[in-house]
Amino acid sequence: MTELDIKTLQALDAAHHLHPFNDNAALAKKGTRILTRGEGCYVWDALGNKLLDAFAGLWCVNVGYGRKELGAVAAKQMTELAYYNSFFQCTTGPTVRLAAKLAELTPGDLNHAFFTNSGSEANDTILRMVRHFWAVQDQPQKKIVIGRHNGYHGSTVAGASLGGMKGMHAQGGLPIPDIVHIDPPFWFADGGDLSPEEYGLVAARRLEAKILELGPDKVAAFIGEPIMGAIGVYIPPHSYWPEIERICRKYDVLLIADEVICGFGRTGEWFAGQYFGFQADIMPIAKGLSSGYIPIGAVMFNDRVAKVLAEQGGELAHGYTYSGHPVCAAVALENIRILEDEKIVERCKTDTGPYLAKRWQELADHPLVGESRIAGMVGALELVPKKSERKFFDERGKVGVMCRDFALKRGLILRATYDSMLLSPPLIISFDQIDELADKTRGALDDTAKELGML
Ligand code: PMP
Repeated sequence: MTELDIKTLQALDAAHHLHPFNDNAALAKKGTRILTRGEGCYVWDALGNKLLDAFAGLWCVNVGYGRKELGAVAAKQMTELAYYNSFFQCTTGPTVRLAAKLAELTPGDLNHAFFTNSGSEANDTILRMVRHFWAVQDQPQKKIVIGRHNGYHGSTVAGASLGGMKGMHAQGGLPIPDIVHIDPPFWFADGGDLSPEEYGLVAARRLEAKILELGPDKVAAFIGEPIMGAIGVYIPPHSYWPEIERICRKYDVLLIADEVICGFGRTGEWFAGQYFGFQADIMPIAKGLSSGYIPIGAVMFNDRVAKVLAEQGGELAHGYTYSGHPVCAAVALENIRILEDEKIVERCKTDTGPYLAKRWQELADHPLVGESRIAGMVGALELVPKKSERKFFDERGKVGVMCRDFALKRGLILRATYDSMLLSPPLIISFDQIDELADKTRGALDDTAKELGML
């Protein structure tokens, strides 16, 4: 693309395109970065810069860019039957085969799928599903869902309400009624003198306290991301999730594990429930389900929920035009085939993942890094003013953005949330690319430290 083409597109973008999660006035002044091509772990921008994408698009391009098989499957399905709905007692082959494949792949008895176009829609579906589940069992008052402050479950009205992002709640009068939040497990900031494992139990028992405060007969479900992604990759201690599960079982509260980021290999297991050792009743998935090649999400739910919905639920008054879209389902099936045939998840667990963890943890020796965290292929570096103290910068976010921009100059895409530098590369990343990623990250940390006068 010529400079003129880029300028023209940027001007049109500023005039006509409202970007999600952006200060659009500031962006219009700066000009959008236009991406043109992707191959493996790299993307190219319109200026021809080659960038190592350590964020897999938006936590989603698990099999990497440019997989021709996925395009071929989409083209074939579009030519054969581009669309049919699942509403009027109909379905299509790819839709059913995907539901069956997901039943086989997901842990425990999550044997049932409801299809959506995104993670947000999956969580909207779940809010209605769990309230309906209790209502048809003569417990309409059991409708409160407990989420966590700073959790992220999407951007629709229910998704943003289940999430605990204050900035999102402030726009549009959220959360909607009967959704409450407890504090998240974040040992770095909140663990005090406790060991991480002791702290994990303390953090989980906040759920028990909240259930008892509200009354177990009023609490429908608990929802959490196994690893809190958007807020900064908070990886809970291993004691956290089994204790959450115990509490949910004790009070008959449905356990919803939002695997939108973690699903499909991100932690080196197919699902993070397997990584942490707990079993969800309901599980929203998206992103890695199609490696981001096409929009598709799903709600997986267990036999108990399915039985109640089937026997007592009556007509389900819920659905999307594109629920179970045959092209999306065909692409998702092919994506899962690639993950399985190429043993990509297993490689993350035993081969490339441990190497990435080693290189990422080495960065903890940098003067700017207060903590390096990683699970499989998702991690973060917490940038801090004083290495000896577990405390944030006074003005949160400035240093993170600085580091992110230095990384970009070095040809590396990292995301910053406040001053956490987030890592989530395509799962196909090679040993050489892991070296490139770690070296460029260290370079960006050095650049940042120099700018701050720390080096
Ligand atoms: N849940 C989690 C845990 C997420 O991280 C996200 C998106 N980052 C969502 C839900 C929402 O998914 P989507 O953007 O596809 O609506």
